[in-house]
Amino acid sequence: MIPDEGVAVDAHVHLWRLARGDNVALSPAMTPIYRDLEPPDLKPRLDAAGVARIVVVQAAETLAEALFLLGLARKFSWISGIIAWVEPGSPAIEEEVAALSWNSCVKGVRPIRDDNRSIAWMLDARLDRGWQALSTAGLSLDILVQNWRELPIATELARLERYQREGAAGGLEIDLLDANEVRRRFPYVGPDVCAATWSKRDGTANPRLATPAVARAARALGAEIWQGTRVTRVEFAGERLRVVTDREFVVEAPYVVNASGAWGNEIAEQFGETTPMFEAAPPNFVTEPLPYFITPALQDAGGSVIIRQVERGNVIVGFYPRGPADRVRNRAPVAPEKTLQSLGDAIRVVPILRGAQAIRVWSGIEGYLPDMLPVMGWSHTTKNLLHAYGFCGHGFQLSPGVGYTLAEMIDEGNPRIPIDAFSISRFTGEVHPDAERLTGEFDAALASAAMRPRTESLQR
Ligand SMILES: Cc1cc2nc3c(=O)[nH]c(=O)nc-3n(C[C@H](O)[C@H](O)[C@H](O)COP(=O)(O)OP(=O)(O)OC[C@H]3O[C@@H](n4cnc5c(N)ncnc54)[C@H](O)[C@@H]3O)c2cc1C
Repeated sequence: MIPDEGVAVDAHVHLWRLARGDNVALSPAMTPIYRDLEPPDLKPRLDAAGVARIVVVQAAETLAEALFLLGLARKFSWISGIIAWVEPGSPAIEEEVAALSWNSCVKGVRPIRDDNRSIAWMLDARLDRGWQALSTAGLSLDILVQNWRELPIATELARLERYQREGAAGGLEIDLLDANEVRRRFPYVGPDVCAATWSKRDGTANPRLATPAVARAARALGAEIWQGTRVTRVEFAGERLRVVTDREFVVEAPYVVNASGAWGNEIAEQFGETTPMFEAAPPNFVTEPLPYFITPALQDAGGSVIIRQVERGNVIVGFYPRGPADRVRNRAPVAPEKTLQSLGDAIRVVPILRGAQAIRVWSGIEGYLPDMLPVMGWSHTTKNLLHAYGFCGHGFQLSPGVGYTLAEMIDEGNPRIPIDAFSISRFTGEVHPDAERLTGEFDAALASAAMRPRTESLQR
């Protein structure tokens, strides 16, 4: 770690004074290190190695040790940081974290149980308060991982916890499951799966069946649907808007909803508005029919595969990264090597899929915004034009809520829930890309293009 140019920092040093009595991991058998190791012993070695500063990492599982290390840091100014121990399940965790973070020398914590031979204990939902306190205090979390198979717990824990927290805030019941519980409920998952969130109200719908059903219901309520008809122009017609198509008819209406997906900018631009939307193709494949055993929809936390099985036995796998799509030619190709890679990812999650044949591969075109939020709300240039496009892959599941909200806006003028975050005007200022999702879910070229800062204003 080099904080200032030319200053070397050893970011992981242990110090101890045995008479304090809490370095219980040390025993007389550890002859070379079973003695006091204090700053004056270390200094000549640091000097010889050209190391100017150090960060001391906890070696005992007590708060008393944190006090001792803070005292050393007070005496030796070249101790620049401390990684202290805390027990995240402590009944006083908020106060303990507050006390530690009060001193800017404490940079983070390293909680340890049983020498972290397994870190599955970190998935215990009762520790949530502790993780939340650390995050609020801005302290970093060091994790000692002894079992490499558990690395995903360290890398994905934060993501799983976020799923659970955000889901719970939205009224969903989401359980965080440790490795044993995952295996008990879903015995077919592979050994690499060490944790999961489980949402019992999650569900799936087959769009091939759901879409015609929605169309039938809409027609029954008086809607007219013209398939294979392209809107070529939307223009003003007095107080109304006129929609011109590539067929013989035009439609005039008091309101127009621009729900044209990845093509949303084509309509918006006719009214002097645009967005930094880009199109991409989320790939999918389906296997031959296999015995039916996967009852829930499984999603790898990193998002590389989403697996579900239909009762007829075919396993459908959606996967990342999304690749380029051609909105003009209406093409969404999938590179063959991606399917092979995702078969490997699927086998890692559900090993019984080894040897299954992928019988069909497909994709489609979706519109994405750099902040991975849709555009939804009134046009800022044109009265009675409503935008609802660029759903960034959230789409199918959100459509009933989106439709309901748009209907409220037309009926009542305003939505009953706040949707300002989706406003088309958010792109007039600085755009804040969702770097985690862009880099994790898209081909590198698409992600870096989406994150590139814009020099010109998008609004005309
Ligand atoms: C392969 C794939 C798998 C997916 N899996 C899931 C999933 O499992 N769960 C989920 O929730 N979501 C999923 N999605 C995402 C979901 O399908 C989309 O987010 C959703 O369809 C977006 O809805 P939309 O109405 O905004 O856009 P679209 O469904 O793209 O609809 C826009 C429509 O507007 C039409 N259009 C555009 N321009 C014009 C014009 N000028 N004139 C007339 N018509 C026009 C287009 O032809 C299109 O039919 C998946 C998407 C793909 C591609």
